[in-house]
Amino acid sequence: MRRVELGQTGVFVSELCFGTLTLGPFQKNLPLSKGVALLEAAFMRGVNFLDTAELYQTYPYVREALKSCPGYVVATKCYAYDAKGAEHSFRKAVEGIGREYIDIFLLHEQESAHTIRGHYEAIEYFLKKKEQGLIGAVGISTHFIAAARAIAQYPELTVLHPLINLTGIGIADGTREDMVSACAAAYDKGAGIYTMKALGGGHLIGRREEALRYAFSLPFVSAVAVGMQSLAEVEYACAFVSGESVDAYLPGLSSQRRGLFIDPWCEGCGECVPACKGGALSISNGKALVDHNKCVRCGYCVARCPDFHVRVL
Ligand code: SF4
Ligand code: SF4
Repeated sequence: MRRVELGQTGVFVSELCFGTLTLGPFQKNLPLSKGVALLEAAFMRGVNFLDTAELYQTYPYVREALKSCPGYVVATKCYAYDAKGAEHSFRKAVEGIGREYIDIFLLHEQESAHTIRGHYEAIEYFLKKKEQGLIGAVGISTHFIAAARAIAQYPELTVLHPLINLTGIGIADGTREDMVSACAAAYDKGAGIYTMKALGGGHLIGRREEALRYAFSLPFVSAVAVGMQSLAEVEYACAFVSGESVDAYLPGLSSQRRGLFIDPWCEGCGECVPACKGGALSISNGKALVDHNKCVRCGYCVARCPDFHVRVL
């Protein structure tokens, strides 16, 4: 599998990035050994890049996988906005994955220049770690065009992890074309870009090949993060990206659209609703209600429910 430099970061990554959200408690909740086996299988097929986050609770999988696959480039994210929070998140990451050095540290779920400014003390902390040689690159992840546009004002943020896909589902504040133009501008300013939600959180499974072809064809993209939760999915994605025939793996792929599940014990407190910037959640008849046409299974709302009444299946 081809490896390319992520922008001008000096970090070389495989075009396919293993999105680990799918392994952990917000999605498939695989036993540790099974999740690690998938990361190992991808590594054997040439994937050297994985994406995790403090939110996903997938550090244990990463930690185990790094023992047998030390060459993985690790990108993680957190919500810290001040130095204290950033230090906590940095420590949690290095202890969680068992490595002193984090290749890429991102501010999770940025929305605009305003939210980036609001997190700047945390950014300064991570930039200091970069100067000390403990972080490779600092950047942001986002579902928002406004944040992708804003990164041009912050040349010290050298990695952008935006949501973009064939139909634009999940982009919070505009169209696919708007996001493409924001990303292209960021790329021109030197940002390294790896994207998320190529399959729209499951919405585009029926158009899998077309959707993946679109995601990998974008000229400003170094890598595409794909969440995988079975060996068939790993083999399919690796074969696809390597330009090999995928026919042998098709029967093993699930064609079922996965979705968000709100259990009947939901008390309708509304805590989860603002977590969904795509407007997929509301309260109706005293319970949370999901609009499946808008949900991209990002899991952000899952973390907000104090009683675990919302899950991604
Ligand atoms: S409903 Fe939850 S999982 Fe779905 S898009 Fe909104 S925050 Fe993400
Ligand atoms: S946070 Fe939990 S209990 Fe509250 S509305 Fe959402 S799913 Fe229901």
